[in-house]
Amino acid sequence: MEIINVKMSNNLFDKQIPLMKPFINSEEVANEIKEILDSGWISQGPKVQEFESLFAEFVGARYAVATNSCTSAIHLALICSDVICGDEVILADHTCMADANAVIMSGATPVFADVDPKTFNITPETVEKKITDRTKAILLIDQIGLPCDIDAFKELAAKYNLKLIDDSAVSLGATYKGSYLGSHDLITTYSFHPRKMITTGEGGMLVTNDKEVAERARRLRATGASVSDLERHKAKGIILQEYHESGFNYRMTDMQAILGISQMKIVNYIIQERAKLANYYDSQLADFKEIECPFVPENSTHCYSSYCLKIKDHQKYKVKDLIKFMSEKNISCRFGIQPLHREPYFANRNFVDSEYPVSNSLAESTFFIPIFPGLKLEEQDYIIKSIKEFFNEVK
Ligand SMILES: *Cc1c(COP(=O)(O)O)cnc(C)c1O
Repeated sequence: MEIINVKMSNNLFDKQIPLMKPFINSEEVANEIKEILDSGWISQGPKVQEFESLFAEFVGARYAVATNSCTSAIHLALICSDVICGDEVILADHTCMADANAVIMSGATPVFADVDPKTFNITPETVEKKITDRTKAILLIDQIGLPCDIDAFKELAAKYNLKLIDDSAVSLGATYKGSYLGSHDLITTYSFHPRKMITTGEGGMLVTNDKEVAERARRLRATGASVSDLERHKAKGIILQEYHESGFNYRMTDMQAILGISQMKIVNYIIQERAKLANYYDSQLADFKEIECPFVPENSTHCYSSYCLKIKDHQKYKVKDLIKFMSEKNISCRFGIQPLHREPYFANRNFVDSEYPVSNSLAESTFFIPIFPGLKLEEQDYIIKSIKEFFNEVK
């Protein structure tokens, strides 16, 4: 199998076990990049188209539109869901700023909902409390690699006549009721930042089954032009583009798409390896009484783009101390996701802190440990041993 050709440079990470390392077939990519450079077509072109087709087929959606980031893909998803200035969009408090940024870029107001203590995702109950007559859409976020309860949200959205968007930035390869996120007839977005399941350096994707949404997103990512650069090139310059709405420059380059195409050849391997590593952590840590392993509901599979542990008694054991302890052992860990409503940017929005008990408590009790294809069994054992040591030494 091609996997054998994947060479991982260790230069950057000689001493420390990193939290995350992209898994790239660099030799293959380097050869193809050279071809692209020699061809003269380095911006968005045939390679982006090829990457889109592979991606749509993989997740089980009709159309895929590549972008320069997931933030821009979410922005396009919001516009294509008719979110406009003055609307409210409900999303998890327990997520990264990028999601709120995309909402703000659309002119709408982000409204945060608390999450479930087991799945770390929003639920119809936490969202329903936040619905007002200005609410236009719900932005689902399949956090850390675990799907939201999509069907329950489809019901809620139908009840209140709201649009539903699924941000699967970190959840490529996770399944809900037996099929990949992206195949559930929602506009779904992905990130290809190096910390996500597959990477193009920077990059994103919007998938949809709706032809009009796909066509509008394609126009909006390229200045709003009615004709793409590639179509104009193929027509040898005979056709002229028109502008029916103002757009953006959210294009992915063919150089990035080369990396994306190469990643699609090994995406199954990446998904399997992550599951294997996570299962091993589960098997060694599930019975350890001080922490909780990631929860996965019956109807879903987790893709483990990160592996997040929760400290049960976070009054006694501080995440900060644990991260410091692990760092001294040359293991990179990270704080869990911090509540967005507490960010200084939102200070004047007067979010009520007590309305986010779960999100607030996860910020103080969760942490990420290393997981990436290529992480060795000895390294996992050393990480597990070090975690247990921390809890035994604090007493
Ligand atoms: C990383 C991430 C994003 C942003 O992706 P970019 O490609 O960096 O714009 C959005 N949503 C979630 C949940 C993410 O983890």
